[in-house]
Amino acid sequence: MADSIVRTPEERRKRVQRIKKIILVFLMIALVTPIVVCICLGIQVSRLNRTIDDLSQRIQTVTELVEDQQKKLEQISSLENVQVQKDEEIQEEIRTTESEPDADNERITEAVTPESAAAHKVYLTFDDGPSGYTDDILDILDLYNIKATFFVVGKEGEWAEEALRDIVGRGHTLGMHSYSHRYSELYDSVEAFEKDYEKLRDYLKDVTGVESKLYRFPGGSSNTVSRIDMLQLIDFLNEREVRYMDWNVSSGDGGSRILSVNELVRNCTMNIEDNAVSVILLHDSTDKKTTVEALPTIIETILALEDTEILPITDQTELVQHIAR
Ligand code: ZN
Repeated sequence: MADSIVRTPEERRKRVQRIKKIILVFLMIALVTPIVVCICLGIQVSRLNRTIDDLSQRIQTVTELVEDQQKKLEQISSLENVQVQKDEEIQEEIRTTESEPDADNERITEAVTPESAAAHKVYLTFDDGPSGYTDDILDILDLYNIKATFFVVGKEGEWAEEALRDIVGRGHTLGMHSYSHRYSELYDSVEAFEKDYEKLRDYLKDVTGVESKLYRFPGGSSNTVSRIDMLQLIDFLNEREVRYMDWNVSSGDGGSRILSVNELVRNCTMNIEDNAVSVILLHDSTDKKTTVEALPTIIETILALEDTEILPITDQTELVQHIAR
């Protein structure tokens, strides 16, 4: 019906112009919209970039913190490893060598001045301490009112210092047994031995006020692991008026096998009646639980023997030495 309307030329011109306007508006919209969208997207991208930069920085800070913590952990763990390694080395060397000289136990017994009228004198000696058992050992000794001798090594820390002071304070004899107890270092040269000796002497003097004049060689004077002639070290001690004491009775607790209480009691007590002097080798170490358990029976068995006395080592004590000048 509309097609049938007849338009004047003026109307047609207007209509064409209207259509042109519409097309123009469309074109404008078609052009402007993408530009606006692009600008908006650009702003968003820039914002996101800033956020990403911020997050990256945070991640870097966190990573640095984690790396720092890891380094600290590694340091702690390596320190622990070194300590564990040192302990293992000491335990291993104690196992491998300290039990060896047993065969030579009764080589030389050198008489000096008798200090007691008893026919059989017994000296309980504890090597390698102090340890977590020192206090128990001291309590047992107190219980029987007995004094013993402790050949100690260079254990450090407040607990060790307390134990050392306790040994002295409760009337026992403090002897030296090397600072490091590492055969490879200790017996490398006379100079190395001297350094170790002085370190332990000074440490014990600082902690307890006592300058010990008594020494027990790790592994005994008859050890077979020393790279230097043990007589050179004996001369070294003699020059300083330090006496060294080996043993002629071994409890057997120096080996890697843990002995039963019965075995320990038997080893410690079976030959006492045959000896005028019995210097008994025992150990004060964390892995020697049965030694502590056996101690009361060892003491009771010895005390039950006729004409027998348990004594601490003094300047007057008869020396038991595997080798001597
Ligand atoms: Zn030892």
